[in-house]
Amino acid sequence: MSDTVIFKGAVISGGIAIGTLVIKEHQYPIAPADTPLLLAADELSPAEVLACLKSGITSFIFHRCSETAHAAILARGMETPSLYGIRVPREYHGSPAIIDGDSGTLIVEPDAVTLAFYHTRLQDRAREEEELRALVNTPTLTKNGKQITLAANVNKLSDLTKAIENGAEGIFFKTEFLFLEAKDYPTEDEQFEVYRAIASRMGKRRAVIRTADIGADKTADYFALDSEENPALGIRGIRLSLRRPELFLTQLRAILRASAYGNLAIMLPMITSPEEITAARAMIRRAEEELTLRGEPYRESIPLGIMIETPVSAILCDELARSVDFFSIGTNDLTQYVLAADRQAPALSELYDPRHRAVKALLRYVIERANANGIEVGISGELAQDTEILPELVRCGISLLAVPPTKLLPIKKTIGDISE
Ligand code: PEP
Ligand code: MG
Repeated sequence: MSDTVIFKGAVISGGIAIGTLVIKEHQYPIAPADTPLLLAADELSPAEVLACLKSGITSFIFHRCSETAHAAILARGMETPSLYGIRVPREYHGSPAIIDGDSGTLIVEPDAVTLAFYHTRLQDRAREEEELRALVNTPTLTKNGKQITLAANVNKLSDLTKAIENGAEGIFFKTEFLFLEAKDYPTEDEQFEVYRAIASRMGKRRAVIRTADIGADKTADYFALDSEENPALGIRGIRLSLRRPELFLTQLRAILRASAYGNLAIMLPMITSPEEITAARAMIRRAEEELTLRGEPYRESIPLGIMIETPVSAILCDELARSVDFFSIGTNDLTQYVLAADRQAPALSELYDPRHRAVKALLRYVIERANANGIEVGISGELAQDTEILPELVRCGISLLAVPPTKLLPIKKTIGDISE
């Protein structure tokens, strides 16, 4: 038997996985294994991660990645652990391995004692999760009784079941992943079926459908986007939607049709001006008129929210609050734009700090102005899962947090320990 080798990396998501290593760059398939496959790759695009998830791989070891890259966010949505910052040599293709997502360690060729230790840890975790289940049907309250809405970030329809099982009080559905999984533009009917399933399964609880945030690293060939020098500052999110009205209208009609089946709201990503909101509202009206002509039902005056994820939208939030129903602060992008540090670049991880005082100052300001204007303000970036910062956010007056379905119960427990 070979010797045990230990690699130290950084954590994308916690937990223990015991399985077989697959090296993406390796040319040869491994013999079918009845253990989970742990995929090691130099780097993967969000579309590649989605393809892996479809084929049953749910644990990743990335070499080049960062904590808030979209590939990492997709991996974090799964129940199994993932790591980054580790380059696994090809010779370990097919080796037994353990991911310890609590310490950020990959153990290859574990000996019998290590294996037994991690099997016990797996059982302990299952017990802890079982204990947390007692919280499923309880409201999300701080120690002093302040109520927070705890919603789930849903990246694909298959995450919805977990979100509902774990008692999500609302959901944020990021629709771009629907586009990245497809070979061509999803039709209005295809999109409608997905949004309707969400609306009807969530019932009275609000499901926010974020219109496609395509651009930068989130793209598919069929979009044929022009190449840009700085795509994160380029035609992304609402900018692309407004430049491709047919694409936007198709999505809006699908959402509006689905709104007849539950409590849907629309949210616009990458907003940087009031004019974009006005233009988007005009498109919503046009989509409504088209549906009226067809005789299709939809919810009148569907609530409209925006992502606050650019410095300009944070600074102008007082003005923007007058034309929308709610804000969701996208701390992943807000951090990269405030600190001028690419969220995708591992080399900038020291600079990319969502807890930076400049980011916090904007957060405080946005929360304060949203509350003064009487609109709901939530956080849907990864910061919403940062247990150290949650007490501060709650004290500032945050009303909603959106976290991956697997984090709903641990975060509910953390909130219960906060005295506000
Ligand atoms: C964010 O930017 O914080 C956010 C929630 O959106 P995404 O991570 O999908 O860009
Ligand atoms: Mg964003």
